[in-house]
Amino acid sequence: MERSSTITITGAGGQIGYALLFRIAAGDMLGPDRPVRLRLLEIPQGVRAAEGAALELQDCAFPLLESVDVTVSAEDAFDGAEIGMLVGARPRGPGMERADLLAANAGIFGPQGAAIAKGAASGFRAVVVGNPANTNALIAANAAEGMPEGRFTALTRLDHNRAVGQLAEALEIGAGAIADVIIWGNHSATQFPDIAHAQLADGRTVFDALADRMGGPIAALAWLDDVFIPRVAGRGAEIIEVRGSSSVASAANAAIEHVRDEQRGSRRGWTSAAVVSRGEYGVPEGLVCSFPVISRGDGEGYRVVEGLDFDPRGRALFEASVAELVAERDAVRALGVL
Ligand code: NDP
Repeated sequence: MERSSTITITGAGGQIGYALLFRIAAGDMLGPDRPVRLRLLEIPQGVRAAEGAALELQDCAFPLLESVDVTVSAEDAFDGAEIGMLVGARPRGPGMERADLLAANAGIFGPQGAAIAKGAASGFRAVVVGNPANTNALIAANAAEGMPEGRFTALTRLDHNRAVGQLAEALEIGAGAIADVIIWGNHSATQFPDIAHAQLADGRTVFDALADRMGGPIAALAWLDDVFIPRVAGRGAEIIEVRGSSSVASAANAAIEHVRDEQRGSRRGWTSAAVVSRGEYGVPEGLVCSFPVISRGDGEGYRVVEGLDFDPRGRALFEASVAELVAERDAVRALGVL
């Protein structure tokens, strides 16, 4: 048995939290030999739901689950934590302006960043799920004085997985045969799902396979622009329309895969995650932007895969998404948060 890990989940009484906790406790995230201690952080209105989930966790008698604590104190929740999954966020209410949303979330992610800086373990790493995830991660990273900002990432793995799922359906192949899809930019409708470098297990490019199937490269390009990109970027709204509420299990699954790959090493090819830019691909330093990333599972976290080229159309889509991240950062700066 490996040593145990302490994992703090914020918004743990919410829907995504409920879909996360049992899989983490079952070993789906850190493996079958790694015991886990769970810290569930909630606001007072969410505490009973989190306590209920804790009772159910006890009733599962998971062999890997060492302890579950529910708290409303960020300092208690992050004290000694090694992994943070920051799910709780303020949803956009009716008539709420973007500045109000950013201010409300700054009031959540700023204090959490400070609590992390104060008490988290030296190797701590966090993934932000709560929206606007990229900018919430930026706020937390800035508030976590003394902690390297690269420890904070934001989730674009669900967008990545959605893109792979759409390609698998179009090509009538298993999702596992597709590698090297990329989500660039913000976790929002401006994201750029890019298949320019994507490949199949048989060595063909995804684009060639699409062109073969759709009757040529022009038809494949039209499908990418008219169907694929809007479908991936708008999938959240599609789920809400069909299911009657937002995606939950797929979001939790993506968060688990994000942390699993970061901690234990990514698999074939690369994946996508929003990480703090060091200027890669011309993205302003410090923005939390989605890139192609790999992890060796050596404690160093995700590294951006550099040197990939864009066609002019792809470059323009990426730049539009980065411009949105810049606008979010500037709006937060205007609030005096950064
Ligand atoms: P969910 O668990 O469904 O969602 C939580 C967050 O994840 C939301 O910000 C949501 O964004 C975001 N998210 C990111 N990607 C996705 C996706 N693909 N699909 C759906 N959501 C996604 O929300 P609940 O309201 O059920 O639960 C939130 C919990 O957080 C509540 O229990 C609340 O009490 C708690 N909370 C805790 C805080 C804390 O610990 N300090 C602070 C604030 C809230 P979006 O809103 O855009 O769907």
